[in-house]
Order: sequence, then C-alpha cells, then structure tokens
Amino acid sequence: MNILELLHFYARSHGQDIAVRSGSSYLTYEQLDQGSGRLASYIQNFCGDNKAPVVVYGHKEIYMILCFLASVKSGRAYCPLDSSMPADRIQAILEEADPSMIFALEDLEEMPENAVSLEELLLLARQDREPIQPEFWVKNEDVFYIIFTSGSTGKPKGVQITADNLNHYLEWSRGLGTAPEDKLGKTFLNQAPFSFDLSVMDLYTCLASRGTLFLLDKETQLDFKKLMPALKRSDAAVWVSTPSFADMCLADRKFCAERMPRLETFLFCGETLNNATALKLMERFPDAVIMNTYGPTESTVAVTEVMVTKDMALSSEPLPVGRAKPGTTLEIHREDGSLAKPGESGEIIIVGDTVSTGYFKREDLTRKSFFTSLAGRKAYRTGDKGYLDREGILHYEGRIDLQIKLNGYRIEIEDIEQNLTRLEDVSCAVVVPNMKDGKVRSLTAFVTGSKRPENKFTFSRDMKERLKAFLPAYMIPKKIVHMDSLPMNHNGKVDRKQLGGLA
Ligand code: AMP
Repeated sequence: MNILELLHFYARSHGQDIAVRSGSSYLTYEQLDQGSGRLASYIQNFCGDNKAPVVVYGHKEIYMILCFLASVKSGRAYCPLDSSMPADRIQAILEEADPSMIFALEDLEEMPENAVSLEELLLLARQDREPIQPEFWVKNEDVFYIIFTSGSTGKPKGVQITADNLNHYLEWSRGLGTAPEDKLGKTFLNQAPFSFDLSVMDLYTCLASRGTLFLLDKETQLDFKKLMPALKRSDAAVWVSTPSFADMCLADRKFCAERMPRLETFLFCGETLNNATALKLMERFPDAVIMNTYGPTESTVAVTEVMVTKDMALSSEPLPVGRAKPGTTLEIHREDGSLAKPGESGEIIIVGDTVSTGYFKREDLTRKSFFTSLAGRKAYRTGDKGYLDREGILHYEGRIDLQIKLNGYRIEIEDIEQNLTRLEDVSCAVVVPNMKDGKVRSLTAFVTGSKRPENKFTFSRDMKERLKAFLPAYMIPKKIVHMDSLPMNHNGKVDRKQLGGLA
C-alpha cells in the first residue's frame, strides 16, 4: 500500500486515533483522510486542467498536513512554504512555482486570486462534498512534493520528489531503529518546519505507522521555559531532529528519560552528529536507540543508517553515517569520474529508487547534478566528500563546494553573497563560516563598496537589518565587516582562505 492508501486504511480501522497534534488542536485519521478527500475535490474543481503545484504557506499548522494530502489527492504536487521567510524570498518561490492554488494559512503580503485563507479552508474541508476518487490521486511516477533549498545563484531551487520516491523511502524509514510494528500508534516529534525535508522523516513515517505527530512550533523551540514542558507533554516515542536541536535541549538538565520516559528512538539527519552529543544522549536516555542517518533532499531525506553504540561513540570520531538503505547504491567518484577504492575519498554519488527526478523547471541544474547510471538507474552527485570503508559503511568528510550546514539549515554561501550584493552600497561580498568542533557555528561577511564606516558595530547591525528583507534569519551572518578591498589569490579570485573561509 502506498502512503495515501495506508492513510485511507487507517481512517477506517482507527479513524478516531489522533494523526497530528499541536497545542490543543488535533486531527484524527478520519478527519485527515475525509477532509483531504473533500478538499481535493474542491482543488480539482477550482484548478481544472491546471496541474501546477499547490503552495501551502504557514508554520506548523495542523491544517497544513490536510492541504498537503488534499493536493496530492487532487493529482498535484504540493510545495510547503514556511512563513518565517522574508517576503522577497516567498515571492521568488511563488514566481518559480507558479502555483495552481495557494493555501495561505497565514496572511501573505499580497493575497493572489487563487489563494485560500485558513477560514475558507476550514469551511471547505467541512462542506458536504464527495471525496475525490483515487483515480485522481498522484500516480507513482508523479511529483508528490517540491521542497525549495538554498541555491548558489541567490535564488532557491525546487527539489521534486515523486510518490514512488516517497513510498520507497517509507518502506525503509518505518523500520529505522525499531521494527515497523514497534512504531505503530506511537508519537513522533516534529521539530523541522515542513519546508525542510527532515520533516518528511517524521511526518510520513508517523502517518505510515498510524502514529501521532506532535508539532513543536518555532516559538516553543526558542523558549526554554516552554520547550521542556512541551517535550514532556508530547509523550514522544520517536524523536526526529537535527543534532543541533538535540544539543540545544541537552543544555537543560531536565532533558532526560525521567521527563520523557516513552522516548525509544532518536533519529538524526541533516548534519554531523558529534560523538559528545551521542554520548550525552546515552547517559540521559540509557534505553533509547540512537540512529545517525545521512542524505540530501535530492534523494528523499536519507539513504544511510547506523545505530550509534557506546563503543562506536568512544572509538570512532567522527561517527560514520552508515550503510546504504535497500534500493540504494553508494559510489565514491574520483575527480575524473572513476570509481574510488574502499577507504579512498571522493565525491559521494547516490544511485537508486529515492533519487529525485530533478529540480523543478531547472533543466540546467538537473543536468549538472543528476544522471543515469550505467545500469539505467537514477543517480545524484551530492557534492559531499566521503569514503566507503571495506564493510561498505559511509564516512562523511564535508563538502567539495561552498554549501554548509548551520544549525541544521542547508545554505549555499553564494546565496548569501548574491543577496548581500543586492544591497545598494555593496559591490562585493564574501561570506566565511566560523568553525568549532568540525561544525559551522556562525558566519562572517566581508563587504566592499560602501564608505569606510565610523562605527563597525552599527555598520554590521544596519547591514544585517537590511539583509533581512532578502534572507531568512538563519542565513544572516553574525557579523558584517567592511573592507576597502578583498584579498585576491594568484588566479585573481577572492582568497577565501585568507579571510578564514573555505577554499
Ligand atoms: P539537506 O538537503 O538539507 O538534507 O542537506 C543535505 C546535506 O546535509 C548533505 O548533502 C550533507 O552535506 C549534509 N548531511 C546530511 N546528513 C548528514 C549527516 N548525517 N552527517 C553529516 N552531514 C550530513
């Protein structure tokens, strides 16, 4: 059964079970299945032949999930758009997506004609309407969702994931850490916004396991006084987050098994899991399983897994990212494209059934990063560096380009630089990551163009403030430094190394 069929099945067998919860609001399996079916009929009537994706705009609203499912039941991909992004970036994504419909669960700066507000949505989902027939649902080869990630041109790019990709992914993710039957009916924690593919790990693994998804909103995550009580209330058995978020929680002694006695499994993805983090979690949650997984949005969340044991955390630093899931083959390519030997570093190539069909409307980028393997399977050049050991276990060694992870967020350094140069008085900009314990902790930008400032602090503060018009908060450098000129290397390129950055 695919995810939509499973959902329908659970709606009949366990219709009153809670599928998703946020604060005191919730949706049962029956409400989710029937509401999305009715809403899909509405989308189909409204959009007719327009098969463009449906944008779902908001933040951690339970109804976002209703909209996601309604879109795919109407045969259209959905594209989640988080409301914490600046208007300029939202506009850029809306232009690129050119959606057939927008579910605006929060107010957009301008509400387009094809936008449906939360109030309208609630009425529509309750209206007496025949749910859409399964023959309209997205087919296996159709795009299920599009997630936009940072792009080096300064504009985000949309990764297309098909229903087939997702179904293959779920066959594996349901068994991550514990057996699929052990996850049935359990509560899953949702930390990442739906516009990041890490959320796919909790959202759909949870729905495929007839579980309850507990949504942690941004405000709760940033306020310790609210966070710990919320985590305790969640009763979560399956934890899905970036390691950075776990690190943040570990800073509070109250984050332990006594407060979260049902917690069985930690599922991590998206950035390096430090040994120290794993060891601390083992101390605080002695009975829980810790899984490190690795993968980019372009291959549906994650493609490798490893259970982190105490021995491993004490003996191998950095931790390996694990073995490829069934249906996936990993290759390590040398610079000339030939296959590297075990133990030899190169670019990580992912081949298999969860590799995306490419970037939305970006043939050029798709051609650059995706190809068909000799065996006729889809393959993706990750831009990640790593090696496979003799046991076939993957070890991650960073990037071959200027992409970074900051607090779990994927950022193309050039995306920030391009947007900095959109500021009137900036002619050149270079952004360098500040590293500690193998992880990026913050960013510093060096800019030329403006007059030498009298006060460095107010210069940096003002620049940051202005940059907020173009970039989300997590992409804003901690410090912006004025330079009369940028250092050059002998090729005439900006010498990032001299500024303390990646070469
Ligand atoms: P995203 O598309 O946001 O999931 O980011 C994908 C990138 O995050 C990968 O290409 C890696 O560079 C990095 N990444 C993902 N998982 C891990 C991991 N377990 N350890 C280290 N880096 C990771």
